[in-house]
Amino acid sequence: MLRDSFGRVATDLRVSLTDKCNLRCTYCMPPEGLDWLPNPQLLTAEEIVRLVTIGVERLGVTEVRYTGGEPLLRRELVDIVARTTALEPKPQVSLTTNGIGLARLAESLAGAGLDRVNVSLDTLDADTFKRLAHRDRHADVIAGLAAAAAAGLAPVKVNTVLMRGVNDQEAGPLLRWCLDQGYELRFIEQMPLDAQHGWSREDMVTADEILGLLSDSFDLAPDDQEDRGSAPAERFLVDGGPARVGVIGSVTRPFCGACDRVRLTADGQVRNCLFATEESDLKTAMRAGASDDELAERWVAAVARKRAGHGIDDPSFLQPARPMSAIGG
Ligand code: SAM
Ligand code: SF4
Repeated sequence: MLRDSFGRVATDLRVSLTDKCNLRCTYCMPPEGLDWLPNPQLLTAEEIVRLVTIGVERLGVTEVRYTGGEPLLRRELVDIVARTTALEPKPQVSLTTNGIGLARLAESLAGAGLDRVNVSLDTLDADTFKRLAHRDRHADVIAGLAAAAAAGLAPVKVNTVLMRGVNDQEAGPLLRWCLDQGYELRFIEQMPLDAQHGWSREDMVTADEILGLLSDSFDLAPDDQEDRGSAPAERFLVDGGPARVGVIGSVTRPFCGACDRVRLTADGQVRNCLFATEESDLKTAMRAGASDDELAERWVAAVARKRAGHGIDDPSFLQPARPMSAIGG
């Protein structure tokens, strides 16, 4: 098992399939993009499936989420998903995507056994989208969401990051729209993970503020959180339910004490936390001929070193050297 020194057990593996992206969301990367990892440094599909198999078969991983960068840019995605859902015991397999290309791929992904999808959407307005993501692709995202629902990848979840003065006035309309479409919306507090180091606490729209904005138009009641477990979203019943909205207060309401996540970057580094400043290099070991047992041992040791929390509020907090797009959000 992947147990840390505080007794937490990591069962939820987030795998970044690529650091590349076709959007440039301001809270994530600069408009000119980043220096992408050279292809030889990326894990091959074979290597990804080998490591995921070790995680599932030997180390107790029960959930696998593919992310990035933009995972739909990875040509072997459907094959990787199919090989993951064929593992025994079968893990829950999900995808976090910006939705561009999902209209074309949703059916095949569902056919490969994908269980769920989270699509990021920060605005209902095509012009705001263009300003925020530096690409004119709003319609593709909307079409991707519809295709995911039509393919039965339910419940389709929508991730939204609010930014002060940019899209915070859309909190209510976004929730109304998601309710109408049958999507489950989750707001995520903006975290200090952008490549430009532009995050500031004052600019962050906090979970309290988000709930305040929503309360203007909706009646929110805390959902029975018995099944919350390690889920980062605090969920609220909207207007008596059954529809819900989630708020992920990563910064102001940290959930590190219940964290069950571990990450694998696109270049084969295990990270025991989104905010970790250390990584454990499985790729080099694997390419040097390490056995599955040896790789599992390294992985166990990396998780054992996990710190108690991310410490964003601590004066000694250091933003990780790699941005979210390279770590896998
Ligand atoms: N490209 C895919 C997407 O956008 O869904 C997957 C990768 S992206 C890094 C994963 C999630 O992280 C998205 O929902 C995105 O909105 C969120 N994200 C990116 N940068 C963030 C930040 N600085 N703070 C909070 N969430 C962030
Ligand atoms: Fe790309 Fe996702 Fe980052 Fe936006 S949040 S730039 S879609 S990786």
